Amino acid sequence: MIKLSLTPVRREMIKEIKIQHCTKCGSTNIVKNGTTQKGKQKFHCKDCGAYATIEPSERYSEGQQELILRVYQERASLRGIERVFGVARQTVAAWIKKSPGAAPLERLPGGGGAR
Ligand SMILES: [Zn+2]
Repeated sequence: MIKLSLTPVRREMIKEIKIQHCTKCGSTNIVKNGTTQKGKQKFHCKDCGAYATIEPSERYSEGQQELILRVYQERASLRGIERVFGVARQTVAAWIKKSPGAAPLERLPGGGGAR
């Protein structure tokens, strides 16, 4: 193991903080309750007593998706979007594929971007 201990680089770790809510009542007073066969997190809500699974793919609301896609249409780069919104490029790309109207106005070949 080589330890790099030159200048302490202050790196803001971008953590994905997943705040999980009860899908029934919205309470955060939930406890994990194992996983399903497909590996989805199951939880038990202490407030309303619901047993349900958390859908990890539904972390972004439609409004957020719309906003991000609109930013993309304004020719923001996927990397930029990733930095600003903390959404993985792959996720955004998947949304773009799903919404045909979201393609940006024609990008000029060879234009833009640092090389
Ligand atoms: Zn609940």
